Amino acid sequence: MTPARWAPLEGSALAVALEVLRHGPLSRSDLARRLDLSRGSLTRLSRPLVDAGLLVELEGPGTSGSRPLDVATGRHRFVGVKVTADAVHAVATDLRARTLAVREQPLVGTSPADVVEAVAGLVTDLDGDTTAGGGAPVTAVGVGVGGLVEGRSRVRSARYLRWEDVDLGELLSDRLGLPVVVDNDVLSLARAEQWFGAAGACDHFAVLTIGEGVGYALVVHDRVVAGPDAGVGLLGHVPLAPTGPTCPLGHVGCADAMLTVGGVEARASVALRRPVAYADVLALAAAGDP
Ligand SMILES: [Zn+2]
Repeated sequence: MTPARWAPLEGSALAVALEVLRHGPLSRSDLARRLDLSRGSLTRLSRPLVDAGLLVELEGPGTSGSRPLDVATGRHRFVGVKVTADAVHAVATDLRARTLAVREQPLVGTSPADVVEAVAGLVTDLDGDTTAGGGAPVTAVGVGVGGLVEGRSRVRSARYLRWEDVDLGELLSDRLGLPVVVDNDVLSLARAEQWFGAAGACDHFAVLTIGEGVGYALVVHDRVVAGPDAGVGLLGHVPLAPTGPTCPLGHVGCADAMLTVGGVEARASVALRRPVAYADVLALAAAGDP
């Protein structure tokens, strides 16, 4: 099965596809009203999306023009990838970001070539796994990287991989022959929450991630704030407590010292006078331990 063609959408066509993705199924008249388009424009914009297998007309009464439009989840599969310092994690999803299959590959090294090979192996493996998702071929690949990413392709810097100026999108696209989008991992998470997750109905929200570092992304007026420094841990060293512990950079009571996995483990271990792993902290908290 050859992949259904995937042409990047722009302007009003992108707006129509996103509106249906986030709020569908929607009738054409609903869509026209929500996007402030004429019925004629909407018909003209939606027809190629239906032809491309992106949108589908649901069965229903009435003429074809009045049938509600929804996203066609069966025609495309996507692979989402997260690159950490020691492994690559990949999932195959449908167009609603529902997980169909999961893979993981330890990294033998963090050179661009090592990462490209690991990602390509997982994408090929998932593409060949026809048990999940009805065998639709992989249409495109999205990669989240903890670092500065330019133009949804070029990793300007990612300290944990020791990368400067690596065009990961181009390397992967050349290797796989598929469209590839690369972005900062926290911005990607914000967009996922906006399109598919808990924040679907919110025009303004923030995403906080707590782990090896503290990540932060902001959505204002329904747009992800994606400035040059967005998503790269500017919140990580914000002061939280004037008498808190000290981070490796010497800040007293900053977010890095208090909210990272290492920070939480250190604090809990001091409080309980024994080594406490992060998973144990979560279990203790869930059990009501103050
Ligand atoms: Zn700090």
